[in-house]
Amino acid sequence: MTVRPELMRNIRTTEPYVPGEQPQNKVIKLNTNENPYPPAPGVERALREMDADRLRLYPDPAAEALVKELADFYGVGENQVFVGVGSDDVLSLCFLTFFNSDRPVLFPDITYSFYKVWADLYRIPYECPALDEDFRIRKEDYYRENGGIIFPNPNAPTAIYEDLDFVENIVSHNRNSIVIVDEAYVDFAGRSAMELIGKYDNLIVVQTFSKARSMAGMRIGYAVSNPDLIRCLNDVKYSFNSYTMSQAAIACGVEAVRDREYFEKNVRKIIETREWAKEELRKLGFVFPDAKANFIFARHPRYDAGELFRALKDHDIYVRHWDGGRIGQYLRITVGKREEMEALFSFLKSYLK
Ligand code: PMP
Repeated sequence: MTVRPELMRNIRTTEPYVPGEQPQNKVIKLNTNENPYPPAPGVERALREMDADRLRLYPDPAAEALVKELADFYGVGENQVFVGVGSDDVLSLCFLTFFNSDRPVLFPDITYSFYKVWADLYRIPYECPALDEDFRIRKEDYYRENGGIIFPNPNAPTAIYEDLDFVENIVSHNRNSIVIVDEAYVDFAGRSAMELIGKYDNLIVVQTFSKARSMAGMRIGYAVSNPDLIRCLNDVKYSFNSYTMSQAAIACGVEAVRDREYFEKNVRKIIETREWAKEELRKLGFVFPDAKANFIFARHPRYDAGELFRALKDHDIYVRHWDGGRIGQYLRITVGKREEMEALFSFLKSYLK
């Protein structure tokens, strides 16, 4: 049965975000920027020791244990931390809470494609200043009147990181609108804008457990800002769904944050593999902006990216490719384990001949 147009007229229809493929068979998976290493050992322990009987009860709506652990880790107050179901959940709530103006929200034309989806869903006007010819954000584009600003640092899918002065420049030019810095990949890059939280009341920093903490499957993200903005975010969350964080997510999240040594070692390994992978890609003739995330955004001057993407997939090596536009000739390659990258390079060596 097809729904009649008269009925459809009052329904919210929207064009959804398209996530990367999640093949269920065993492949070399370099397509969705997951971490190839397991989470901290304490996470497995927490899962093993979970008492199923407790699942009768609702979780702590404030996820206090996790909020406290994050506040201690970053040296901020507990009233400065908000947690959610992955940073997608946190970012989506941020759009709803903070981008509430008739003026357009600004984000780069080439960036995390979910921003446009949330803006459309919530009917928030937006404009997308173009990245420059080297795929860098032009800070001057963000000096105009706006209803808020969001950008990832490092940016996705370019993997380009801008230093703290650059971020501060944008924040300080926009004291009357909210600036959200999406730092999903910052642990692989450099200094976090969290350092600026005490100085600017219009800044929100969003991070995730999905990348550097190896927990994409558990869905934990967080925002750090000043107590007033965190309160606004909580008010919207509690108007939506009180119990967003499961008991498992809270317990496992706490363990992941506690193990700073494991986290730092995990990040170091990825960075080492990334730097070596950049060399190998260069030897194969690929060109790419300097990658500071856990992925590399590369193109080969003599081979079509779509064809390369399909050839790799036929050999069970998954990377990410977007058809058309300025990025149509690029592949986004997640940094996996050394042996996974070796398999990729060995395939490329024979294919590119
Ligand atoms: N921001 C950026 C820039 C991302 O690339 C991603 C990963 N797709 C996210 C946010 C969301 O990650 P998660 O919901 O797993 O925290």
